[in-house]
Amino acid sequence: MTYVVTDNCIKCKYMDCVEVCPVDCFYEGENMLVIQPDECIDCGVCEPECPAEAIKPDTEPGLESWLKLNADMAKSWPNITQKKAAPADAKEWDGKPGKLEAHFSANPGSGD
Ligand code: SF4
Ligand code: SF4
Repeated sequence: MTYVVTDNCIKCKYMDCVEVCPVDCFYEGENMLVIQPDECIDCGVCEPECPAEAIKPDTEPGLESWLKLNADMAKSWPNITQKKAAPADAKEWDGKPGKLEAHFSANPGSGD
């Protein structure tokens, strides 16, 4: 099992999660983060820290495609361990449906 980052992180990216992860397994894309499933030790500490409620355990049904996206993107995105400022419009995007289809970017972020 692992934890995965899901749709509501897209264009929110508050980054409260990265500061608490004991094994630094978050990776940064242009407008969302992902968790490297093989590095995550399933401690669950990040889940309640995410204000967007975007982090879920992969034991929840229907998250297979998100698990794959997290694993795939973690291979090419840079590691991130320190919180940066959230995008100015993050609040406006919180909870908007269908962000994966409309706004996902495979481009890497800048990392630490
Ligand atoms: S705290 Fe949540 S919304 Fe913010 S970057 Fe982490 S997973 Fe994404
Ligand atoms: S569950 Fe623990 S190890 Fe996994 S990403 Fe969250 S804080 Fe890191």
